[in-house]
Amino acid sequence: MNIIVGKNSGFCAGVKYTVTKAEKELEKEKNGLDCLGEIIHNSQVIETLSKKGLRTIDFIENAKNKVIIRAHGVSKDVYNYAKEHEIELIDLTCPNVLKIHEQVQKYSNDNYFIFLLGIKNHPETIGTYSFCGENSYLIEELSDIDNAIINLKNSNLKNLLIISQTTFSVKLFDEIVSEVLKRFSKNYNIHVEKSICNATDLRQQEAKEISSKVDLMIIIGGKNSSNTKKLYEVSKMNCENVMHIETKNELDSKFIRNFKSIGIIAGASTPDFIINDVVDFCNSL
Ligand code: SF4
Repeated sequence: MNIIVGKNSGFCAGVKYTVTKAEKELEKEKNGLDCLGEIIHNSQVIETLSKKGLRTIDFIENAKNKVIIRAHGVSKDVYNYAKEHEIELIDLTCPNVLKIHEQVQKYSNDNYFIFLLGIKNHPETIGTYSFCGENSYLIEELSDIDNAIINLKNSNLKNLLIISQTTFSVKLFDEIVSEVLKRFSKNYNIHVEKSICNATDLRQQEAKEISSKVDLMIIIGGKNSSNTKKLYEVSKMNCENVMHIETKNELDSKFIRNFKSIGIIAGASTPDFIINDVVDFCNSL
């Protein structure tokens, strides 16, 4: 059995930053810390951190102690509420996401309409969108472009920023931008900010390469992890057999033995020990 493991698998720099800092903060706090939403999209990591005192809360109103802000970031309301109620925040938002929050605020202040490309119910998108101001529109699919353009025209603004969630599909980003540019080349000042994180881009490229060479692709990552789902979608375009798992426990040795070559790649929130477990399991067959 030939096994190819993606070089860009596992924790990205942002997730590493958030998890490492959270561990350090937890060491200092005897009474544990609250985290607003899942700190990262990986249940095994959340379980490990909860044993060290991390409590996941769904609303800032439920905070009992200092509150950690997760890797994906949160919306403007949360910062405002914390300030008003003197709740101390430990902001561990990935620096790349914070940079996008700053960019959209800057462009919004400079009278730009903003098209934010992102998955509508993803926490990062919800957070970023809250910083875009009222002259903005969220685009998840090509079919959203018509309404986005109507809103842009109604605003009477002539400047447009196109920016995206860090883990948005590279392919879809390019398709949406080219469609908008096709319809809006004249009379508008358009700035395109390719804010898809490098870690996401590299991983999607690698998933594409590996999946075109193997019989089975195993994608490891949280079931609610957006970047992991993208790796699944990209792989599915090139390989008939693609599995999305969280841990090696979901693998059936009888099934895996049917394949001569296997590709393994993991999302940005998957810790190394989970990847190694899967690789060892496949090697053992
Ligand atoms: S994928 Fe990129 S933007 Fe998202 S947490 Fe990782 S480094 Fe940050």
